[in-house]
This record gives sequence, C-alpha cells and structure tokens, in this order.
Amino acid sequence: MRSVVIAEPGKLLLEERPLPQPAAGEVRVKVNYASICGSDVHIWHGHNPFARYPRVIGHEFFGVIDATGEGVDPARLGERVAVDPVVSCGHCYPCSVGRPNVCSELQVIGVHHDGGFSEYAVAPARNAYRVPEAIPDKLASLIEPFTIAANICAFLQPKPADVALIFGAGPMGLTAIQALKNVFKVRKVIVADRLPERLAMAQENGADVVLNNSETPLATQLGSEKPTLIIDAACHPAILAEAVALASPAARIGLLGFSGEPCTVTQQSLTSKELSLFTSRLNSQRFPEVIGWLEQKLIQPEKLVTHYMPLSDVEAAMTLFEKDPRSCCKVILSIS
Ligand SMILES: [Zn+2]
Ligand SMILES: [Zn+2]
Repeated sequence: MRSVVIAEPGKLLLEERPLPQPAAGEVRVKVNYASICGSDVHIWHGHNPFARYPRVIGHEFFGVIDATGEGVDPARLGERVAVDPVVSCGHCYPCSVGRPNVCSELQVIGVHHDGGFSEYAVAPARNAYRVPEAIPDKLASLIEPFTIAANICAFLQPKPADVALIFGAGPMGLTAIQALKNVFKVRKVIVADRLPERLAMAQENGADVVLNNSETPLATQLGSEKPTLIIDAACHPAILAEAVALASPAARIGLLGFSGEPCTVTQQSLTSKELSLFTSRLNSQRFPEVIGWLEQKLIQPEKLVTHYMPLSDVEAAMTLFEKDPRSCCKVILSIS
C-alpha cells in the first residue's frame, strides 16, 4: 500500500509499505479521503513534541472497514467509517471521568500511531464511527475538525444571548463559527483575523461581523460591545491578555493553543470580572454529536474546503496548505 511517511523531521516520502493487519479489537480501514491539518505540517517540520519517527501522518480520515481483528463483529466489514484519532486507556483518572482526550497514556492516531494518509490504516474498532448515508464520502473526513469545535463548546455552553468573539478564521475558527451560529444559535458571532481573504471565508461560514485587526486594535473596533464568549482559535500567546481585557463581566474564554510561550494576565483582570477560562484539547467522544449535526444539516463542512488533491500530490498539498492561507483552507486528499 502507498503511505505518506515522515521519515524524520523535514523528510516527507510517499512510500510502499506492507498492508497492516488489525490486532484484536481493531479494524482495518481502506481510506478514501483524508484532510490536511496544521498538526500534520508540524510533524513534517519536527515541531510536534509528541511525534515519533518514522510516522505515517493523518488523523482526519474516512474510509470503509475491510478487515476486522479478533473480537470485532465481522458484520462491520464494508461499514463506512470516520475514525476518532484519540486512543485512550479507559481506566486512568481522566478516562474515568469522561475525558479520554487527556488520558494519562494518550495515543493519537497519526501522531503516536500510524495514521490515515495511507491506502489502509488500523484503529481500535470503538474509534471507527459509522457514517450515515446522508454524509457524502468527500466530506466525512471533516467530522474530526468539527469535533474540536464541539469539544470547546461543551465547556463554554454557548447560549442564544451570547455575543461571541473568535480570534482566527482558520479551520478551527471557521468550524467554531458554524457551531456557534447554526447549532447553538448565539445572537452574534464576531471574528477577528489579519487576512481579508480569511475574513471573507468567515463571513461565508456565518460570521455576523468580521474585523481586521492587522492595524486597528480590536478594542477600538468593538467600541462598547463586550463579548460574553471568546474563543482563541488563532492560538497566539498574546491573545489571552487581549481576550481578558475585551471580555464582558461573567464571560467565558476558551483556549485551543499549544504554545510553550508564557501568557501574562493578572489575577485582578480575571477576578474583577469573574471570568471563566476553559482549555480544550482534541475531542472527548464528540464524533456522535458532530455526526448528528451533519445528519440534521446544521453544519456545512464543504464551506471549509478549497482544494481536493490526489495522494500523489501530498507534498504540494501540504506546502499549499502551509504557505498560502489566503487561497487555501482545508485540502482533502483523495486516497483511493
Ligand atoms: Zn486536526
Ligand atoms: Zn486513560
């Protein structure tokens, strides 16, 4: 089978590999489509602290079960599935309280284990979620990115009275816009970004107000508007202090970033407004929720997709994704 392998940081290969066999409790998926994410690019460049090499990357993928391991119901052969990349132990403290995404032995498919930029991939059977017929093959790999939005929203509990501010109109920001507007029906979604092309995408994805913060500070542009719910989907360490300053009293702030740089905020700036801070990593069993959103046509994943490219063009696709945020948002690789 052909697989995209990061042999070592900086070295991306399209390699012929032996077909993997599903172990007990696992399924093998014949991958049809997989989408490129920022973390795939980070592993390529050696910027992901968890990645081990060589690694088959890709954690957003869709396909059909073509083999089952011991103990897995063979009736699942032929099932169309999207794979949750979060593999957890099931018995540590976070797992016992429904937070497998921060399992103390967390293993992520495409990071710690070989992933879905490959003609075949293996995964625990419980991670392979059946995709209803109403969801087309070409869009099913986008279930995973929407679970990121579902997970932060589970903490933030958006309500119709909220005025939301989202920093960043990349894939995470755009999925958050759709979730906040179409699923949680918040009153107003304001999006800040530095690229006009990305702000146009934010509008297309449902933002009510878009603000370019490349020159004029957001505080000036917002005037008396005080956001009650803020998501940092740009993930720059300077954003927390700005979010705290802009927030309404009693607001909730959600952080998705993974920077190792410090953020500076005072206790007073948080406590005087009694702000709540939440962080969210990957997703904790949000696949069924997002599949439900798609079945009910609440979200439109096609609005994120700018390119479909064949697996053989993976390096060009990853380069386009990385270097050209003005024309490129989600790139979907057609694998087989
Ligand atoms: Zn991702
Ligand atoms: Zn665990």
